[in-house]
Formats: sequence, C-alpha cells, structure tokens
Amino acid sequence: MVVAFNPPVAHVNHAYHTALAQYDRAVHYLSISDGVADFLRYPRRELTVNFPVKRDTGKIEMFTGYRVHHNTVLGPSKGGIRYSLGVSLDEIRALAMWMTWKCALVNIPYGGAKGGVVVDPKALSPRELENLTRRYAAELIPLISPHADIPAPDLGTNPQIMAWFMDTYSMNVGYAVPAIVTGKPVNIGGSEGRNEATGRGVITCMVEALRMQGQTNPADIRVAVQGFGNVGSNAALIAHKLGFKVVAVSDVTGGTYNPNGLDVPAVRAYLAETGGIRGFRGGDDITNDDLITCDCDVLIPAAMEDQIHEDNAPRIQASLIVEGANGPTSPEADDILSERGIMLVPDILANAGGVIVSYFEWVQDLQSFFWDEDEVNRQLERILIKSFEATVTTAEEHNVDLRTAAQILAIKRVADAVAIRGFYP
Ligand code: NAD
Repeated sequence: MVVAFNPPVAHVNHAYHTALAQYDRAVHYLSISDGVADFLRYPRRELTVNFPVKRDTGKIEMFTGYRVHHNTVLGPSKGGIRYSLGVSLDEIRALAMWMTWKCALVNIPYGGAKGGVVVDPKALSPRELENLTRRYAAELIPLISPHADIPAPDLGTNPQIMAWFMDTYSMNVGYAVPAIVTGKPVNIGGSEGRNEATGRGVITCMVEALRMQGQTNPADIRVAVQGFGNVGSNAALIAHKLGFKVVAVSDVTGGTYNPNGLDVPAVRAYLAETGGIRGFRGGDDITNDDLITCDCDVLIPAAMEDQIHEDNAPRIQASLIVEGANGPTSPEADDILSERGIMLVPDILANAGGVIVSYFEWVQDLQSFFWDEDEVNRQLERILIKSFEATVTTAEEHNVDLRTAAQILAIKRVADAVAIRGFYP
C-alpha cells in the first residue's frame, strides 16, 4: 500500500541566519571585493531528493534528503550527513558554509558540504535504516565521488551507516571505493582515531584556552558537556581521563549533575543499558537548560544548534565555552558573552578534529597505506594547535573575539584562492 506523501513542514531553524550574520561580521574586516564577498555568501549547488523506503509493515513511506555544496575553490567538498527530524534545507546550507570555513581555517584542501535526511533514525528498524541509507546514497551519486564530494558521519549517523553508504556507492561503480566516505569502520578502510577525533580536538582546544587563562591544574576545573553522542561522550571521557572534573553531562532525555565530578565511564554504561542519561544514580537529574547555566568553569555544547541564546547567555556561569556542536551560539549571545568577558572557542576551530582526521582517512584510503593511532593523534594535535595559535594572533591583530578571528582567517584563505583562480569562463 502506498501512503500519501507529506512533504516536510518548514522547520524554524536559526542556523542559516547565524552563519550569514557571522560571515557578514568577519567580511567587514577584510578588503575583498563586493563580487567575491557575494560569491562566498552563496551555496554553489543544492540537491533535494524525495525517495521511497519500504517499512517492515510493507508500507512505502516517502523521505526527503538534501546535499549542499557551499564552495569548492580549495578542493573537493567535505561534510557530514545528518539524520534528524530537524533537518531543513536552510540548516544544511548553514552547516555546508561552516564546513568551507572550517577546512580553510585548519588548512586542509577541501571545500564545504553537508547533507541530511528528515528522519528520526531511532524510529526505524536496522533494516529500514539500512534501506533508507542505501537509497539516499544512490540518490546522491550525481554529486558525490572521492574526487568531488566526500560525506562523513554527523548528528544521528555513525560508522555502520557510513559502511552501508560506501557499499552502495561501490556496488554502483563495480569496485570497492573506500575513499567515498570517511568515518567508516577501520576494517573497511576507516582510520584509527577517527571515532574519537572530534571529542579529542575539543579537549585539545579546551586545554590550550585554559593555558591562556593561566589555568593548568585539571583537578581544579569543572567541565559541563551538553550532548552525549560521538562528540560529547568522547570529549567527556577524554577530559575525565586527563583528570578534569566532569560535573554535568546530558543527552536528549535530560542530564545529570554532580559537583564532585561524575564517573564518566559509569554514565556511558548507564546510557548503553537504559538508552538515556536521565535517572543516572551518580548525580542529580537536571534539564538541558540547567546544564547550560550550571555552576562550572568550562561549558562544552556538543548537541546541536541554537542552544546558547540571548535568554540564557546572561546566566551562563562558565568562564570558557568550547563549541563541540556546530552553531550552538546565536550572534546575539556572542555579543553578550563577549561583553561578559567569557572566552569562546568557536565551532569551526573547536570541532575541526573530526574533519582533520577524516582528511587523514581519505589520504590513507587513496594511498592504501594506513597509519597507527599515535601518528593520527600527533598530526591532529599539531594541526589544531597551529590553527588555535593563528586564530589567537588574528584576534589580537583585529581586536575581535575568537569566532570573528577564525572566520577572518578562513574567509581570507578562500578569497585569496578565488583571486588566483579567477572566475570561469
Ligand atoms: P550524535 O548523534 O552522535 O549525538 C548527539 C547527542 O546530542 C546525543 O547525545 C543526543 O541525545 C543529544 N541531543 C539531541 N538533541 C538534543 C537536544 N535537543 N538537547 C540536548 N541534547 C540533544 O551526534 P554527534 O556526531 O555527536 O554531533 C553532535 C554535534 O557535533 C552536531 O552539532 C554535529 O554537527 C557536531 N559535529 C560532529 C562531528 C562528528 O565527527 N560527529 C564533527 C564536527 C561537529
């Protein structure tokens, strides 16, 4: 039986507004022509796909997905695939634009892209999820290739989904193409260290920022992490292992707070057992909004966009924010935090560990020559610390916050590449 196709309802998402406002703010400090500034403001191409998936009941249901290439001047486009009911074309446009700046900031030879499907992955059976992934991957074949556009995991997707994606592309071309996606399981061409890379990079940036603030004793520093998926749980675990006091963590079900520090491995085990963090006995239940404003020194938003806004920014108690998620802070909140002297390490720097190790994975796949985890982590840290220092220097030069500085550096690199390549034809 075929059910009626209900196109997704337009979702109110501020991410694109945020991305454009950040861009306009940074461009103000650069001497680039209006034409180039305009060119970099637009996505290059956008694909919308509507496709059927057979549910386990036998019903055929329609789903909508997107893939947006923001800019490809510096190389093939790179960016994750998101499965969430909140996905909209505007959200994907914002995330693609941020990928362009992120790759340019850390100097890896990629442009920016992003993709997503409007779906709650938890509402599908494993077979349905596999079919949805394979059909979406097949629909993207006109846009993707190891030399043109290389997807990766993001919110709601994981290494298994990347494996199905890689298999679908490979079956279509007739031979194995590991370099078509990154974030794959290691036994089919994934990289050691990729799974933890984003969280590891967040903590590397946190340590550098704390050093700038003169705080060097982890046991004195209380960390709160919103979101306990790939980014949040790895960041919390690495911080815990380094001796920081992780006082609060949360997921979509709510959070838990313990002023003396949480047993992070026990929270992980509780989540694996029960499917949510709420109710964890080693701490007190809190809401996600409580977490943002809780008593802590470092706040790591690692869930999604629009979490720090003008309503809660005045109540934030942390003196340092390190953005694990993409776009968690509104431009209005940025101004409030800056006025309050709260230091913020922006997403395009703080969570760049993921795309840096994705780049290593792609290089390893293309060369069929694999590195050990120490090598991956060493190179990751080298690139991130260099990018962190360049961002701080730019902030000092222009007397701006770290977000504006990171954007200035990134946009300038892309604009310089446009200038030397020229406009076709
Ligand atoms: P994930 O799906 O693995 O985890 C997301 C987490 O956020 C889960 O714990 C979920 O329960 C929680 N969450 C979802 N909705 C929430 C809500 N409304 N309030 C509070 N918590 C909520 O996703 P991820 O890969 O960890 O991605 C998280 C963020 O990090 C996203 O913004 C993503 O774009 C960004 N990011 C991810 C990577 C990566 O390598 N995975 C790289 C860079 C940036």
